[in-house]
Amino acid sequence: MSKYKIIYDREACIGSFACAAAASDFWVYNEDGKADFKGATYNALTKRWELIIDEEDHDDNQAAAEVCPVFAIVIEKLPDTDDKTPHMGDWKKEPTTPPSDDLHFTEE
Ligand code: SF4
Repeated sequence: MSKYKIIYDREACIGSFACAAAASDFWVYNEDGKADFKGATYNALTKRWELIIDEEDHDDNQAAAEVCPVFAIVIEKLPDTDDKTPHMGDWKKEPTTPPSDDLHFTEE
């Protein structure tokens, strides 16, 4: 099952609440006129709210992201756990093969 990371830039939110119409389980009205992202935690480094969701919650949140007029909601697919595709940082885990001494370059 795929997982996704939702990143919410609350500073950019203009309070249109289109997101709440698309995914009311996650996006709710706050008295300050901006949307709150239920269950999300604040990342002080990026100054964004973040939440990991399962695939079953992807479509509603994707709809929320697509209707947001200021693109405050970004969704990133996380690597599948059985995904064999190399990812950033994998080079640290596996020993690398040194270049072959048999390589020769010729000038024409
Ligand atoms: S749709 Fe975007 S701008 Fe509108 S309330 Fe939701 S996050 Fe804020």
